[in-house]
Amino acid sequence: MELYIHIPFCIKKCSYCDFLSAPANQTTISEYIDCLEKQIVSKAPSFRGKTIDTVFIGGGTPSVLLISQMEQLMNCIQNHFVLAKDAEISMEVNPGTLTKEKVRAMVSGGINRVSVGLQSAQEQELQLLGRIHTYEDFLHSYELLRDAGIRNINVDLMSALPGQTIETYEKTLRQVLTLHPEHISAYSLIIEKGTPFFECYAEDEALRDAGEIPKILPSEEQERDMYELTGKLLSDYGYERYEISNYAKKGYACRHNIGYWTGKEYYGFGLGAASYIDGKRFCNTSDMSAYLMGDFAPQDVQQISKKESMAEFFYLGLRMTDGVAKSEFVQRFGLAAETVYADVLSELSAQQLLEDTGTRYRLTSFGRDVSNQVLYRFL
Ligand code: SF4
Repeated sequence: MELYIHIPFCIKKCSYCDFLSAPANQTTISEYIDCLEKQIVSKAPSFRGKTIDTVFIGGGTPSVLLISQMEQLMNCIQNHFVLAKDAEISMEVNPGTLTKEKVRAMVSGGINRVSVGLQSAQEQELQLLGRIHTYEDFLHSYELLRDAGIRNINVDLMSALPGQTIETYEKTLRQVLTLHPEHISAYSLIIEKGTPFFECYAEDEALRDAGEIPKILPSEEQERDMYELTGKLLSDYGYERYEISNYAKKGYACRHNIGYWTGKEYYGFGLGAASYIDGKRFCNTSDMSAYLMGDFAPQDVQQISKKESMAEFFYLGLRMTDGVAKSEFVQRFGLAAETVYADVLSELSAQQLLEDTGTRYRLTSFGRDVSNQVLYRFL
């Protein structure tokens, strides 16, 4: 069983971000943490008898919390759930929001994995993204985490940024690799509707999607080169690509995310947080005023049918390098994957996008390069 806890606050909104997050004053943040505590206290009894394997405190920027707010949250989690002895307890942080004392409070609260949002090591790119920090700030935060004993650090990076070249991207990768983080997530920028980036780059993106050369965004070919470079360079440095965009040193794959990709149950606390329990998906209200008034009722409840559940098993499972186990499919759904997806599986195999290892199905390296086109075939 997994828990997700959403902290929807940031110092400033980044120009590309469409996550449920915004700047807020201290009064709102304090009220929010009180409500989060109430939601946890009211829901926790229904998890009696269940052990929590992973907790992920995400955002937003959870590291904007004051030490007292972090302590309140961590005490609440520790007091109301049974955490596995080796539970993975992650927190997302952003450079420029950590202090020595805060990191100490995180560690004593039980945080043992930290995900740092760097995105780029080039100042110009950081400014363009609207990030609040410099690379120097990142280095300082990284050092604070290591000094406090955090031995499991993820660094988030982004490629295909406006104006980014393969050279600037490689520079970022190499700078980060000198620090030897245990985990690196490297995603391509997606231009999301409703963001300042959409205003600036939607036309350029349309050019790229039409196969033409965009003016500012990297071309499709450059984007693919960046993706390939990530795989090659990180593999040279001993990282294993265990998911399309995630790389880890041996033993450091993110257990929380693997849970999502393998259909484990999770419960989300906080504004807009999603849950998957007893075959149902639902989320919390995304309306901050309603949440602060104590509206914790599940919204958009969706009973997942067996057919949808089987499709998700493949859609999410094939994101991982290991792919999906045939025996697990049988165990979960009572029939063989070949009987449900005979046509899709044989077509994808014939196109060399998918391979059958005998016990598992997994994407080939070509299949991973065009994963979006492959995965939707199961939906
Ligand atoms: S720090 Fe993260 S969550 Fe906050 S605005 Fe930037 S990208 Fe969005």
